[in-house]
Amino acid sequence: EARALDALRDRPPVTRDGVAVVLAANIGSVADAEKAREAGAMGVGLFRTEFLFLDRADLPGEEEQLAAYSRVLELFPGHDVIIRTLDIGGDKPARGIQVPREDNPFLGLRGIRLCLARPEVFRIQLRALLRAAPRGRLMVMLPMVADVHEIRETRAMIAQARAELVAEGLAHGDFALGIMVETPAAVFCAEDLAAEADFFSIGTNDLTQYVMAADRTNPGVAGLCRADNPAVLAAIARATAAATAAGKLTGVCGEAAGDPALIPFLLRAGVRELSMSPAALPRARRAVLDLSVSG
Ligand code: PEP
Ligand code: MG
Repeated sequence: EARALDALRDRPPVTRDGVAVVLAANIGSVADAEKAREAGAMGVGLFRTEFLFLDRADLPGEEEQLAAYSRVLELFPGHDVIIRTLDIGGDKPARGIQVPREDNPFLGLRGIRLCLARPEVFRIQLRALLRAAPRGRLMVMLPMVADVHEIRETRAMIAQARAELVAEGLAHGDFALGIMVETPAAVFCAEDLAAEADFFSIGTNDLTQYVMAADRTNPGVAGLCRADNPAVLAAIARATAAATAAGKLTGVCGEAAGDPALIPFLLRAGVRELSMSPAALPRARRAVLDLSVSG
C-alpha cells in the first residue's frame, strides 16, 4: 500500500469531478513544519501555538514568537499558513499563565476566553503575528469562539496593536481573521459569526466532545465521542452551509479531516480545506482523488 500511495504523492488533490481541495498540515512547532513540508503539505491549516507556551515557567516573548511564526511562513511560500492564537486551558495548562482552579476546565477559562481575560499576554502574540505577516500568506484563527463579541474584542485589540507598531516604526502586515468552530454555540450562531469572521475552521475534536457531552479524554465515553455521530455531522453541515452562504471558506482541522471515511461527507458539505497530521496526508489524498463530490 505504501508504494501505491507514494505514486500519488505529486498528484494535485482534485476530485474526479474537478473540485480542488487544499491538504494542509497540523503542526505544533517549527520542527513539525519542516516535516510537514517534506510530507507534501500545501501549507499549514493549524499551528497550535500553545506548544510554544508549554513545559516552561516563563512566557515566550514577542521576538521569540516572531521568529517562530516567521520561520513557518518562510517554509511555505505561496501557501496559506493558519496560525491559531493561544489555546491554553482545558487539558492544556501552561505554567507561565495562572488560571484559578476550575471544577470543569473544558467548560472554563480556555482558548479565546483566557486570551481576552489576559490582554497583556494576548497583546504580545498579536504584535508578533502582525510583525510576521509580511513573511508569507498568514491567516490567524481564534479557538473556542462561542459569541461574536469575542471576534469584535479581538479585532479591537489587533487595531490597538497595529497602532502601537506604527507609532514604534516597526514593520508589520495584515492577516485574515477566522474562527474555529468547535462549540455548539458557534454552530447555532454560525450565520452571525460568518458575517464577522473571514473564514471558518471546524475543530471536530472539541466539537464532538461538546455536541455529544462526552469528554474527549475519557475512554469510558469513547463510543459516544465520535465525529461520525449523526449529531456531529449535522453540526458540521450546518456551520459549513452558513459560511458558504456568506462567501467564506470552511476548513476542518480536527482528526476527522484526515479520516478517509469522513472526507466524502466533508467535501459534499462544502469543506474545501483539510488539515491533518502529516502522516495522514497520503491516504487523504487518495480519498480526494477517488471521490466525485456531485455523484
Ligand atoms: C479540535 O478541537 O478539533 C482541534 C483541532 O483543536 P485541538 O485538538 O487542539 O483542541
Ligand atoms: Mg480544539
